[in-house]
Amino acid sequence: MQIDLAHKNILVTGATRGIGRAIAEQLAEAGACVAVHYHQNKEIAEQLAKELGNGSLAFQADLSKSEEVLKLFSSVLDKFSKVDGLVNNAGIAISANVESSDEAFVDSWSQTMRVNLNATGLLSKKAINHFQEIGGGRIVNISSRAAFRGDTSDFLAYAASKGGVVALTRSIARAYGKQNIQAFTVAPGFTRTDMVEEFIEKYGEEYVKNDIALTSLTQPRDIAPTVVFLLSGFADHATGATIDINAGSYVH
Ligand code: NAD
Repeated sequence: MQIDLAHKNILVTGATRGIGRAIAEQLAEAGACVAVHYHQNKEIAEQLAKELGNGSLAFQADLSKSEEVLKLFSSVLDKFSKVDGLVNNAGIAISANVESSDEAFVDSWSQTMRVNLNATGLLSKKAINHFQEIGGGRIVNISSRAAFRGDTSDFLAYAASKGGVVALTRSIARAYGKQNIQAFTVAPGFTRTDMVEEFIEKYGEEYVKNDIALTSLTQPRDIAPTVVFLLSGFADHATGATIDINAGSYVH
């Protein structure tokens, strides 16, 4: 099997670091032109786009703002004229629990939903509108193990937002499959990125390793190949599926 994404334009959100960066790098290795979305790191994003090659370019947007989400998709279309795939990867995990003040809880809840769920929904909408015009396309949404087993008391909003992502993805697969539009969920478990550094510092690596069946923690490079495969066309009959990549934590 040879995966060839040459002449495919793929938008990856949150592509400058962590899981998004590994996805962007492996997509480019497979020949894709990547629309490298970033929030604040313009220099890093432009450098990455240059390194990726294949005509890849960087695009800025604060995904907590609907108008910027909409502008992001149209800016990518302006430059590339077609988009073949979308990876909704950007996400945040802000802690707040029931002991927090109501105000702090509402702030955390709203920001989490805006970035993790609203932006994913809105970008999916724009992608579907576009895919309908060009005859099809693929969406990969990055959810989390938290959608299925729940999360700790500090991350109620995070788990809820990721559950929403799963339901959204399945609905897209169900509603638009006959229009040649496929949608998949990838649900990572604990993955070593900036997002979880604080957690590792607090609880230690051994604590996390106790939760998994393998000997080492999952790295972003362990998630990316599945995303490339799902975007390749070889997995279209798995549309609507969730692929768990959590180092065997469900069977441990
Ligand atoms: P990360 O913090 O390294 O990356 C998150 C990305 O999202 C960054 O590039 C950041 O710029 C972007 N982002 C955050 N807020 C934004 C905003 N307002 N506007 C635009 N971009 C914004 O984390 P990561 O671990 O690489 O996470 C990537 C995805 O994987 C997330 O959706 C996360 O929920 C999911 N995930 C991560 C883990 C894990 O253990 N690391 C586990 C399950 C799921």
